[in-house]
Amino acid sequence: MEEKWADLLKEWLPYGGGKPIPTPLRNHQMIRDHLAGAGPHYLRTDEALQKMFADVQNDPKKIREIESDAWEDFLDMTMSQALLWASENIDPAKTPSEVVLTEPYLMGSHASGTGAWVSGPEDIAPKEYFWGYNRMTTIRGLFAAGDGVGGSAHKFSSGSYTEGRLAGKAAVAYVHDNPPPPTLDGDRVEAIKNELFAPLEVYEQSRPAVTRGDVNPNALSPKQSLLRLQKIMDEYVAGQGSGYITNGPTLKRGLELLELLKHELPRMAARDLHDLLRVWEVWDRYYCAEAHARHMLFREETRWPGYYYRGDFPKLDEANWKCFTTSRYDAAKGEWTLTKRPFIQLIP
Ligand SMILES: Cc1cc2nc3c(=O)[nH]c(=O)nc-3n(C[C@H](O)[C@H](O)[C@H](O)COP(=O)(O)OP(=O)(O)OC[C@H]3O[C@@H](n4cnc5c(N)ncnc54)[C@H](O)[C@@H]3O)c2cc1C
Repeated sequence: MEEKWADLLKEWLPYGGGKPIPTPLRNHQMIRDHLAGAGPHYLRTDEALQKMFADVQNDPKKIREIESDAWEDFLDMTMSQALLWASENIDPAKTPSEVVLTEPYLMGSHASGTGAWVSGPEDIAPKEYFWGYNRMTTIRGLFAAGDGVGGSAHKFSSGSYTEGRLAGKAAVAYVHDNPPPPTLDGDRVEAIKNELFAPLEVYEQSRPAVTRGDVNPNALSPKQSLLRLQKIMDEYVAGQGSGYITNGPTLKRGLELLELLKHELPRMAARDLHDLLRVWEVWDRYYCAEAHARHMLFREETRWPGYYYRGDFPKLDEANWKCFTTSRYDAAKGEWTLTKRPFIQLIP
């Protein structure tokens, strides 16, 4: 497919000339292939594994080791893929498996530059990227690492745990440099606890209104809320169902619908502690989704075809948008501010 759609890459130079082809551009080729009526598309684990078996002269003991390593990697990397294989009777050593571009729509920093804006290290970070402590976010004393950190095009397991160590050490240095240690405000802790457990109360209080089974006019389940969020993101924020395309007016309409949903989310009810976890996951996803939509609206170009397309700005615009974009949410006012940050080439 890379050869079949090689010409597409020329529209995305200089990145289109990269070897290996950058992930979004490979996705872009696959989407184009799909739109041209081709497919399905397959991951050729069978070819890769059979080649590895041949390399060890099909020695059964070594084959077992290779298979065991491969399964460990599959399970570590994306457990749901391994479950899918099991449920579809797929032996990855013998059968190719179909791949489609779909959820998760928000993949954090692993496959994009998404995440918290953190300070770089003091030895190489230019002043624009350094504010005292390696991996400290723009909130003093709050540190981030791994997929939680933005501004990096691709994160991996080893990089993430190394970054975790760096962030941990910097956090310790911060505590040492800024005595006395923080004290806890008991009233504030109590208020947070009440807020965290409130969905259990919503459930109890809404019970008398249940008409049948779990049909409850006064409460939302976390699952219902999640489905609504996914549907809005899919249709308005360049999801799979809309061919990964959106535009300014569509994003603004999506933001209106997100705002409506946000007003309903305090009615999420938790039957038990598991539901309570799900409720707070939905809130977390909600804010990620809203930030995502706002960043897409702010950036008036298409920089990552294959991840999403702005139909109204379908091209790469190096002159205006070769930069990072950051957002800040003012919880008291409920307002978002988006800003451009310079992209500084550190490795020539
Ligand atoms: C599909 C896919 C394939 C990948 N393939 C590879 C690969 O082949 N090789 C490779 O090196 N990397 C791969 N990665 C990337 C790698 O998995 C990540 O970069 C790495 O796991 C990030 O580590 P982390 O510790 O930053 O985040 P995570 O591993 O996501 O850890 C964050 C943890 O925080 C927990 N958490 C979240 N919220 C809360 C809360 N409120 N309270 C308590 N806990 C919470 C989560 O449950 C999670 O366990 C892949 C990632 C994906 C998604």
